[in-house]
Amino acid sequence: MGGSPTNAAAPIAGQTLPPWQPGMLDIHHIHTGRGDALLFVLPDGTSLLNDAAGRRVEQAPFSFPTRPDASRAPGEWIARYVRRALPAGARGLDYALLSHFHGDHIGVVDSSSPASGHGGDYRLAGITEVAEHVPIARLIDRAWPDYRAPGVPDNPTMANYQRFIRWQGQQRGLVVERFEPGRNDQIVLRHQPAAWPQFELRNLYADGRLWNPADERVTDLLPAAARDGSQPGIDENQRSIAFRLRYGRFDYFSGGDLSSPHAQLRAEAPAWLDVETPVARASGPVDVLKANHHGSWDANSPGFLAALQPRAIVVTARADGHPAVNTYLRMRSTQLWPGPRDIFITHLSAATATTTYGVADAAAGGGHILVRVAPGGGSYRIVVLDDSDEAMRVKAVAGPYPAR
Ligand SMILES: [Zn+2]
Repeated sequence: MGGSPTNAAAPIAGQTLPPWQPGMLDIHHIHTGRGDALLFVLPDGTSLLNDAAGRRVEQAPFSFPTRPDASRAPGEWIARYVRRALPAGARGLDYALLSHFHGDHIGVVDSSSPASGHGGDYRLAGITEVAEHVPIARLIDRAWPDYRAPGVPDNPTMANYQRFIRWQGQQRGLVVERFEPGRNDQIVLRHQPAAWPQFELRNLYADGRLWNPADERVTDLLPAAARDGSQPGIDENQRSIAFRLRYGRFDYFSGGDLSSPHAQLRAEAPAWLDVETPVARASGPVDVLKANHHGSWDANSPGFLAALQPRAIVVTARADGHPAVNTYLRMRSTQLWPGPRDIFITHLSAATATTTYGVADAAAGGGHILVRVAPGGGSYRIVVLDDSDEAMRVKAVAGPYPAR
């Protein structure tokens, strides 16, 4: 059984990251400069990739130059990182979870995207490019099997995605599911669940539907007129999948690009458009938050942050303004929640450093941001990894923090 304590070496600045060991929970915020790619290695070695950014051609000002460099596409860099960070002997990813259908989370297919080399009738970018190099067993998105549902983009990327899942399902046995708010048994430990009973991944929200912890029921936040399209509703960002990962006393929140009119000072907006706050209340306080929408100006509203009260925040930056000055000030505000907090940013651009006041002093330096939770979930460290090459070199270590 895997329940015994490990004598894993602590990460040390200047040295190579010690490998994951059974019982640890690793959450890698992989920085390619193009958007989100979060790799979770769960206590029994089960793996989950949450999003796979990937526009091949740089599109300033919407993305940074590719990291480590432009010699490979972002999806291939992500796949190579996954291979390095998975447990020794792992054959591939147990799960891939796509928060929503935007290019900085699933990849952008355009004329520069090469065809699959496996014989499938699809092109490679983002999630499809990851799968070219690392087998994926289960894929979960917010819409399957109805990609004509309201809000789902009608574009070449989504057409390609549907060819991809059809071919992968027929030829490689890929299982595709729709994310179901409320469940805590859709993403589970697949290898040794009995050894780590302290682990839970709770599906909170997707597409306007929210789990309520008080009565364990799922409710629709949207009025009927917004649901049927006769009145403007939520946008694709606000349909993002959100979940809470729990391991012992440790809690972590990821909610894609959720946003809120309350972050934008749109006082005229109807209350139901603020999906962030009820999602955060359903979660309850967490140790670590992945900032919504890359820390953009329109996300991480006061009500959202006050409900989550994170001890640490990871901003997955892909453009100038990540994080935005107003958003950053909210993240720092002890009027929203008391106590210290540390903010980690995958890449702080020169423009952001000069316009987001105070951020340059607070940022620990850019790179891949790894949250490494100790066996049992009692404490965690946050490790900044050098993203200039593939050596997995530690730049800085924060913590250990006690989980609460
Ligand atoms: Zn995004």
